[in-house]
This record gives sequence, structure tokens and C-alpha cells, in this order.
Amino acid sequence: MKNSSHIFPGYFLRYFIIVIFSLSYSYISSGKGYYLLFVEGLVVLIRKVIIIGSGPAGLTSALYTARGNLKPLVISGFQWGGQLMLTSEVENYPGFPEGIMGPDLMSLMRKQVERFGAEFVDDNVTKVDFSRVPFKITVGDDVHEAHCVILATGANAMWLGLESEQKLIGKGASSCATCDGAFFRNREIVVIGGGDSALEEALFLTKFASKVTVIHRRHELRASKIMQERAFKHEKISFLWDSEVLEVLGKDKVEGVRMRNLKTNEESEMKTDGFFVAIGHKPNSEFLKGHIDLDERGYIIRKNWTQTSVEGVFSAGDIHDYRYRQAVTAAAHGCEAAIDAEKYLEAKGVE
Ligand SMILES: Cc1cc2nc3c(=O)[nH]c(=O)nc-3n(C[C@H](O)[C@H](O)[C@H](O)COP(=O)(O)OP(=O)(O)OC[C@H]3O[C@@H](n4cnc5c(N)ncnc54)[C@H](O)[C@@H]3O)c2cc1C
Repeated sequence: MKNSSHIFPGYFLRYFIIVIFSLSYSYISSGKGYYLLFVEGLVVLIRKVIIIGSGPAGLTSALYTARGNLKPLVISGFQWGGQLMLTSEVENYPGFPEGIMGPDLMSLMRKQVERFGAEFVDDNVTKVDFSRVPFKITVGDDVHEAHCVILATGANAMWLGLESEQKLIGKGASSCATCDGAFFRNREIVVIGGGDSALEEALFLTKFASKVTVIHRRHELRASKIMQERAFKHEKISFLWDSEVLEVLGKDKVEGVRMRNLKTNEESEMKTDGFFVAIGHKPNSEFLKGHIDLDERGYIIRKNWTQTSVEGVFSAGDIHDYRYRQAVTAAAHGCEAAIDAEKYLEAKGVE
């Protein structure tokens, strides 16, 4: 057994260093972004706000909370910058008359946020605990704590998963007709899928394309009757049934598709300029299951504007918005969530 008189000086010294460190840290930070607490001799940093996700929603929340002096911590995810890092030209984000490349837009957003002092952890959140305040956010071995959390983890479009398809994303392969349709004026396009969203995309794309072919694995569509009627009637839309895409052809841009007929097993090729996949989206909310209310597809259910089912936890962007799914709407949600978070902290007296 160790003699306590030998332990005491070391223990005392450690505690003393922590106190000095803590006091000077509090002094330097002026107590504005976070609190320091002692728990069993350890310093615990409690943030005012943690933002999870760094797409347009997360970075806009970070911009507003950083400018509001809340010193946010942004846990940006493996794919910092979000979905726009996967695309080439963005022509519909206001302020860029010549358009801007997706990754450039996200780098500018991040720079703007960093200018106001937000801190970043470029990793994924693995676990959350919203059962009491301060909320706990786990990233690998680290646990971060905050009075308030903004969830902005977005949603990913589902792809067929072909290597050739992944290589051509942003080069003619897309999952967003609203975003990329205008690049295909007077071109031929294929749309993959058989549900309402596939037909919605196909109908939207007829505004630009000379021809739209819907490729579907079955012989009938899952889409609603009304959508089917509209699509069947449209002179620019045709259907290729019982067909599965095996490869997207083209080196630097989409040039065609290689397919197999699932009834006859015959393979064929077809020329196309655009390849749109419309087989659904998956919200990045696995780690939130059981902690806040999600709908049956995994999207966050919001109440009282941007608040989730847990007071003090807010949401922004594609993680709750399955309707608009645009960079500018995600950014707007980010602004709303930041303003609501600020008001919440004020009302709780967290200064
Ligand atoms: C190929 C493509 C092209 C597009 N083109 C356009 C366009 O031209 N114009 C337009 O307006 N919109 C476009 N969009 C749509 C637009 O990108 C999205 O609507 C927008 O990015 C949504 O923003 P968000 O911040 O909600 O989510 P996202 O951009 O999806 O960002 C989510 C963030 O959360 C992070 N994350 C996820 N899980 C975790 C976790 N467990 N822990 C920590 N972080 C996590 C991710 O790493 C990411 O940083 C396009 C989308 C795609 C896929």
C-alpha cells in the first residue's frame, strides 16, 4: 500500500497546476465561449455551442454563432464541406455570377467562419448523450460537452455504387436535377429509378434536355398514378424497362451506359450525355437514433421552428429537409438554427 504522505505533494502539485491553468484560461477566454469545471480533479470544458456537420448548414450556423461570440466548436465530419465537395460547378448559389466550383465555395465558407474564431475537429461524431445538460458528444476517445447543439449532418444521395459512376460524379453523373439540369440543354439524359422522385426529376429535366430516358429495373413504376400519367404523356420521356445499369461509360465525362436486360440477360449500350440517379436519399442520423425524434426514414422531426424533440438541440439543413435539398436553403436553415440557439442560451442565462 502506498503511503499517503508520499502521494500528497504530487496530488497537491497537480491540483495546483490545474487551478492556475484553469484560472488563466478563464481569464484569457473572458468566460465567453465556454466554462471550465472541475470534476474529480480534471478540467472539463463546457462549450456554449457545438455544431455537428460542416456543409452549408453547419458552416452558416458556425458563422452566426462565431460572430455572436459564442465560440462554437464545429465537428465537421470525415467529409468536411459536405455534399458540395463532390460536385464541380455550382451556378445557383447567390453572389457568384460566373458560378463557382463546389469545393471552392465550401473553402470560402470555412475561411469566413475561421476568421471569426470558430474551432474545428475534422472527424465524425460516434455517440451523443442528450439526456441531460451539458450534452455530451463523443468523437473517438474524446468527449466534448456543450449547453446547446446544432445538428447539421445532411443526407447523402443513394447511388448505384458502380466505380464508373463514382468517378463521373460532377462530370455528367448527378443526383440532383435542380442543381445540374441546366447543364444539359438540348442533350440526352438517362434517369435511374422508378419512384416519385425519379419521375419528378425526369419531368424537370425535360425543360432542358432533348430526350429523357427513364431506366427502371422492373416493368412497373412505384411512382404515384398522377406522376406516371404525366410522365407517360410527355413527348420527351421514354422508358427502358427491366434494365440494370452495369457501367457508366466515358473517361472525363459521361458518354453512355452499358446495361443488362434482367429478363433476357442481354447486354446493350446506349449513348447519353447525362446520368441522373434518383433512387432516394439517406439522412446521416444513425448516431441520433434513440436520442431525438426521427421520422421513419431517419429525418429529424423539428418542432418550434428549428428545435428538435430535445430542448437545446437544434437542426439545420438536409438532415431534416427532404423537400428543397439545396445549398442556399441549407445555409438559411443554418442561420435560423444559430439565431434560435443564441436566444435559447440567453433565455437560460448562459452567458
Ligand atoms: C453532386 C451534388 C451536386 C449538388 N449541386 C448543387 C448545386 O449546384 N446547388 C445547390 O444548391 N445544391 C446542390 N447540391 C445539394 C447540396 O449540396 C445540399 O443540399 C447541401 O449540401 C446540404 O447542406 P447540409 O449542410 O445540410 O448537408 P451536407 O452538405 O450533406 O453536409 C453534411 C455535413 O455533415 C457531416 N457529417 C455527417 N455525419 C457526421 C457525423 N456523424 N459526425 C460529424 N459530421 C458528420 C458531413 O461530413 C458534412 O460535413 C448538390 C448535391 C450533390 C450531391
